[in-house]
Amino acid sequence: MSTLFEKIAAREIPTDIVYEDDLCLCFRDINPQAPVHLLIVPKKPIVRIAEAGAEDKETLGHLLLTAQLVAKQEGFAEKGFRTVINNGPDGGEEVPHLHLHILAGRKMTWPPG
Ligand code: 5GP
Repeated sequence: MSTLFEKIAAREIPTDIVYEDDLCLCFRDINPQAPVHLLIVPKKPIVRIAEAGAEDKETLGHLLLTAQLVAKQEGFAEKGFRTVINNGPDGGEEVPHLHLHILAGRKMTWPPG
């Protein structure tokens, strides 16, 4: 059975996709926590960081470089942004398909909740 994010990649669920390449997809979060809230998702359904393997090294690096690319494309690279990966129950993970959150468009606070 495919994950929610695989269904989004397959266009089975209408989503505002802002970037796509062979390895990943970037789209707007349905419940934004900042003026800009994007998710970068590998097409390979890696469950979470804790379950990634050495064979995923290129994909994992690609997600971060895609964050840089999308930040430039969407015009918030200079003002700044936050990247977040939630992992497991204490990390606040809800969707078991690895995804990198990108939050931008407001000043972030620290520590996070
Ligand atoms: P997590 O809590 O697992 O790190 O993040 C999952 C994210 O997926 C949440 O921010 C949630 O709003 C987002 N999300 C859940 N379902 C959908 C959906 O159907 N479409 C989109 N675009 N985002 C979703």
